[in-house]
Amino acid sequence: MTARTMFDKVWTAHEVVPETPETPAVLYVDLHLTHEVTSPQAFAALRERGLPVRRPDRTLATMDHSTPTSSEQVFGKLPIRVDAAAKQVQLLERNAAEFGVELFGMRDSRRGIVHVISPELGATQPGMTIVCGDSHTSTHGAFGALAFGIGSTEVGHVFATQCLLQRKPKTFAVNVEGQLAAGVTAKDLILAIIGKIGVSGGTGHVLEYRGAAIRALSMEERMTICNMSIEAGARAGMIAPDETTFAYLKGRPRAPQGAAWDAALAHWRTLPSDPDARFDASVDIDATTLEPMITYGTNPGMVVAVNGAIPVRAHDPVNQKALDYMGFHGGEPMLGKPINVVFIGSCTNGRLEDLEAAARILTGRKVANGVHLLIVPGSQQVKREAEAAGLADIFKAAGADWRESGCSMCLGMNGDTVAAGQYAVSTSNRNFEGRQGVGARTLLASPYTAAASAVAGRIADPREMLRPLAASAGGAS
Ligand code: SF4
Repeated sequence: MTARTMFDKVWTAHEVVPETPETPAVLYVDLHLTHEVTSPQAFAALRERGLPVRRPDRTLATMDHSTPTSSEQVFGKLPIRVDAAAKQVQLLERNAAEFGVELFGMRDSRRGIVHVISPELGATQPGMTIVCGDSHTSTHGAFGALAFGIGSTEVGHVFATQCLLQRKPKTFAVNVEGQLAAGVTAKDLILAIIGKIGVSGGTGHVLEYRGAAIRALSMEERMTICNMSIEAGARAGMIAPDETTFAYLKGRPRAPQGAAWDAALAHWRTLPSDPDARFDASVDIDATTLEPMITYGTNPGMVVAVNGAIPVRAHDPVNQKALDYMGFHGGEPMLGKPINVVFIGSCTNGRLEDLEAAARILTGRKVANGVHLLIVPGSQQVKREAEAAGLADIFKAAGADWRESGCSMCLGMNGDTVAAGQYAVSTSNRNFEGRQGVGARTLLASPYTAAASAVAGRIADPREMLRPLAASAGGAS
């Protein structure tokens, strides 16, 4: 039998009707995640046609994109300040009730960013097809799922049919060998990958991250990697499930239990790409050579080592436009540039390990005068765990602003924004013009680099500030 890639195995198992030169494939969807921003139009389309949600048992809704992060607004002491957000929240409550969709509402202890809560619950599993009306659905590929973002119209199609029309992507092996050095994280690795292959390098492909450096990553780190696949233009990113994956999933509320777990495990072990499987494209990365990375421009591919300099690109109008927006010049070093805001959170870096990383820098230190450090956990569960582990106390003692969960300053829909002209070091995934607020200037980096920069008040190299985290504050090494 022909050797197959993991992508091919998952795709074929979900193909209801194969594609032809004239028509896309009909692909079955195992899990449909939804939220308050891209669902209203889709529910309205169902209502117009008198259709039900075909598989409410395979649909899960949460509130994250536009929800407030202030406790008073979340728990009802104050009204939601942003009118559009208040309307979206109410609409999703009404739609979920009318169509029988399970919803983690504003005060639900399981609420959080859609790509954080589904893995946390064990709802994300190897071999699944998973879709959501959000580009960073690729996060779930960390479990060996085929997961990708869809538009509002497609959200309606999946509600109505539990299927999706799709052209089959090509495959792209990203081989990462060697070990990451201390202070160099999964975020730095994915930024380096995007820097190498470019923001269009993965277009039309599903990336499979492979090699010793990938196998050594925790599930949280693998999610950070897969999350940003879309920023390389890829349809999705995947990592082969292994013992790390199974240990993460075992015992989670929505993971299979008992005999069903054993059966699932037997299936999941068949998913990794066959040894001789052929990929349509590939790139090799040496993890040992990587440094902490930071972006300097207006897409995630405009990235350099934090101790490096902005490249000089004469006669490149796109690069020049980005530098003009950022107020930077080619040849300038990144270290020491003053900053105004630091955001630690998002579905890229809002999990417990990310907060532990920030705490390793912030323990016993203060945020620099004039810098606003906003730390937003990826879910209410992450918030509870961070508080129980003493991380929130470290953050508050440092002078950080500790909030309820949500997307927050990743896209600024809830009013958590960066002012025009200000510089924000952000652990999120997009540094497009205006992403964090009109005129805001975003520098993407790891939680280490973000926290170190908050302390310095300038872009800083985190390796000079790393400390072990005390056992009472999470026990991370
Ligand atoms: S944190 Fe940002 S990227 Fe992630 S789901 Fe929310 S808005 Fe999308």
